[in-house]
Amino acid sequence: MSSFFAPSVAHLIEELAKLPGIGPKTAQRLAMHLVKRPEEQVVALARAMVEARRKVTHCSICQNLTDDDPCEICSDERRDDTSICVVSDPSDVVAMERIRDYRGRYHVLHGLISPMDGIGPEELHVRELLTRLRAGLVQEVILATDPTIEGEATAMYLARLLLPLGVDVTRIARGLPEGGDLDYADEATLARALEGRRSVNLEARERRKPSES
Ligand SMILES: [Zn+2]
Repeated sequence: MSSFFAPSVAHLIEELAKLPGIGPKTAQRLAMHLVKRPEEQVVALARAMVEARRKVTHCSICQNLTDDDPCEICSDERRDDTSICVVSDPSDVVAMERIRDYRGRYHVLHGLISPMDGIGPEELHVRELLTRLRAGLVQEVILATDPTIEGEATAMYLARLLLPLGVDVTRIARGLPEGGDLDYADEATLARALEGRRSVNLEARERRKPSES
């Protein structure tokens, strides 16, 4: 489709179409928009992309994206070291911070277990979480992964791994839009889900399983 465009525009469309959620039609529309904008605006956009990509790194403690390592939350001495909230993505940290109810630390997995997409626990930052727990300060791990099949599978995997370590493992309450993204939930819903978190009881879950499905 893009072959009828000038080669430079076709190339731009091709690059834009590689972004998530951008199909060929949207890529075309964005490219058309970009070539019509004043040059300095396009340069500013390109610069912002390159700068963010170059500056941002993973926090060596919580794995969240940050310009400075350790990140602001990990460096904040007023936060509670006894609690770690485990989320899949940096955007979930932003969502949790917005409700202002949580004063503990975070751990960002950067994904969820998804056998369909070939993503196993090794692809996530689970090892770093275990290292943090070995320091012995943490009393509660809150599993705040999305209420999706992948989010549940990841939470259960982590619960199995963490419970033997003697920490309290809790799961944020249901009530979040089923199959939805944590970061799309409104603040009140997310605050309720956090408030209503429950201890994970693996045995009860396993007993319930056969009758479910
Ligand atoms: Zn951090």
